[in-house]
Amino acid sequence: MGRVLIIGAGGVGRVVAHKCCQHPEVFGEICLASRTRQKCDRIAATLPREVATAAVDADKSAEVTALIRDVKPEIVIHVALPYQDLSIMDACLETGVHYLDTANYEPPHEARFSYTWQWPYHERFRRAGIMAVLGCGFDPGVTNIFCAHALKNHFDQIDTVDILDCNAGDHGLPFATNFNPEINIREVTAKGRYWQEGRWVETQPMELHQAYEFPGVGTKEIYLLYHEELESLSKHLPGVKRMRFWMTFSERYLMHLRVLQNVGLTRIDPVDFEGRPIVPLKFLKTLLPDPASLGPLTKGKTHIGCVIAGRKNGQPRRYYVYNICDHQEAFRETGVQAISYTTGVPAAIGAALVLNGTWRQAGVFNVEQLDPSPFMDTLGSWGLPWQETFDAIIPDGPTAKRS
Ligand code: NDP
Repeated sequence: MGRVLIIGAGGVGRVVAHKCCQHPEVFGEICLASRTRQKCDRIAATLPREVATAAVDADKSAEVTALIRDVKPEIVIHVALPYQDLSIMDACLETGVHYLDTANYEPPHEARFSYTWQWPYHERFRRAGIMAVLGCGFDPGVTNIFCAHALKNHFDQIDTVDILDCNAGDHGLPFATNFNPEINIREVTAKGRYWQEGRWVETQPMELHQAYEFPGVGTKEIYLLYHEELESLSKHLPGVKRMRFWMTFSERYLMHLRVLQNVGLTRIDPVDFEGRPIVPLKFLKTLLPDPASLGPLTKGKTHIGCVIAGRKNGQPRRYYVYNICDHQEAFRETGVQAISYTTGVPAAIGAALVLNGTWRQAGVFNVEQLDPSPFMDTLGSWGLPWQETFDAIIPDGPTAKRS
């Protein structure tokens, strides 16, 4: 049984706290900390076990270090924002505590998320004898582990991977993001990029799209985006020839986004407003619905999976592994919708596998570098059952050929 410190009291933090409480055989004492302590207290009041709460500004490594020294956790589960990855990793190094996150570092003033800042911590974590698990949400996270599971069990060689992220849920509001609006809008307004034959191919934002039929939820329009798991998988999946990431968006969401972009409200550089600088996107975030408030409104399902093609025993093979998660079931269990649920459950499982020693190694690891089997064996019973088929349909797109 290990003591755990969760940093971040948004939708994902709430799910992680619920899951840790549900598994006292792994998680001993729990402390939930965030910038605004009242948010932690509000979550704590809904939990089945007593959980300590604390205020911390995780941008300040010294504050995190002091909190860790006070709480004495074995692991920090970081589900605040990507801007805090490095300050929390520094605090973990300072105190000799394991670390896990769900999103790679992004500098506040540049919309460029990348592992290039966190990978160089490997040697220091290794020497300190502690582990950092990077990107252990759903995507990145489960999608990386789906690829590792496919390679371990179904392929000798993986040639192509298409990661498909479908949110077929509807909250009925004109415009809302289903996770942190600032991070979400920075991600979807960036140029698209995919991996092909050893190099990155860039596209305009939302340039490549097509209709795709998702088993269990129906046909949706998917758009090619650059997404963080492509960076680590292109390094860790040997010989993969092409890797793409696709996400569904409704026409209504895209129309609002286009208008917000056109009027400059998605800008991340400060502009002068009545004599003081404001960042338009941060201002916009204060106007948009809090993702945590979407829980009771959202109906429908998410469907996220990996279409994988390659060879087994010299024969071509196509494989699809996926999870379907129901927004309202997630809400009934934890009080938040499926986007937060599908992120928080894998984070809690990853932390459990570090705490019980199954995954534990010294250094910095992306999840596809770890044994997928214990994770896949746990995923269903902790709330995210997965399915697999061998008749996958590979999305077309200008560079894709149906095999
Ligand atoms: P929210 O915006 O709902 O919550 C973020 C929380 O972090 C809030 O409680 C916020 O506090 C807190 N926070 C922000 N800045 C600080 C700080 N400096 N110090 C301490 N706490 C801080 O986000 P979500 O719960 O939706 O997402 C959490 C994380 O999960 C994000 O990093 C997101 O990118 C990631 N994610 C990963 C996914 C995956 O599949 N891998 C999918 C979805 C999300 P306050 O409210 O006081 O500002």
